[in-house]
Amino acid sequence: MPLIIGLTGGIGSGKTSAAKFFAALGAELIDTDAIAHEITQPQGAAIAAIRKIFTEKFLTEDGALNRKEMRSLVFSDSQSRRKLEAILHPLIRVEVARRAALFTASYGMIVVPLLLETGGYRGMIHRVLVVDCNEHDQIARTVARAGLDEQTVRAIMATQLSRNERLQQADDVITNDADMAHLRQQVDTLHRKYLDLANKS
Ligand code: ATP
Repeated sequence: MPLIIGLTGGIGSGKTSAAKFFAALGAELIDTDAIAHEITQPQGAAIAAIRKIFTEKFLTEDGALNRKEMRSLVFSDSQSRRKLEAILHPLIRVEVARRAALFTASYGMIVVPLLLETGGYRGMIHRVLVVDCNEHDQIARTVARAGLDEQTVRAIMATQLSRNERLQQADDVITNDADMAHLRQQVDTLHRKYLDLANKS
C-alpha cells in the first residue's frame, strides 16, 4: 500500500491549488469535493436519499442537488447540515476507499475539506497535511472565487475547526499566505519528503 496523505484546510485556504501542484509532480489524487459533486448529479448515488429526506424542493428540474437552496439551508440550520452529511459522507468514504485501493504511484493524496472534523479517514491515511491561511485571505479568496458574500463565508468557517485546532493535528503544514510561487515551493519540498518517506516504508 502506498503512503497516503490526507490534505485538508479551511474554506479558501488553497487546498485545490496545492493539490494541483502535487498532481503536476506525479502524486495521485482523490478529491472528495469532486466525488460529492458526482454523487449529487442526476441519478447520483445520493439523490434518492436527498429526495426522501429533503423533498423535491432541494433538487433541480433535471434531478441534481440544488446547491444554492441546500447551501442556504445547511449553513443556517445545523440539524439539516448533519442530515445532509449523514447522507453524503458514508457514500464519499466508500468511493474514496475504492479509489485508494487502485493507487499505483509512490504516494497518494486524499483531499478532504472536513478531514479532521469528520474523523472518518483516520484509518485510511498515514499523515495529515494542513494548508493554513489567515482568515482575511481565506475570506477574500473565497468571495472572489465562489461569489459568496462575506457573511456566508464566515458562517461556513464557523462550522469548521479553528486554525489552531487544525494545526494541532497536522503532521505537515503549508502556509499559504503569500503568492502562488511560495505555495509551489512548499509543495516541491513536501513532495521530496513524501517520496523519501514512501521509499523508506
Ligand atoms: P474551497 O475550500 O473553497 O474549495 P480551496 O481551499 O480548495 O477552496 P483554492 O480553490 O485552492 O482553495 O483557492 C481559493 C482561491 O484562492 C482560488 O481562486 C485560488 O486561485 C486562489 N488562491 C489560492 N492560493 C493563492 C495564493 N497563494 N495567491 C493568490 N491566490 C490564491
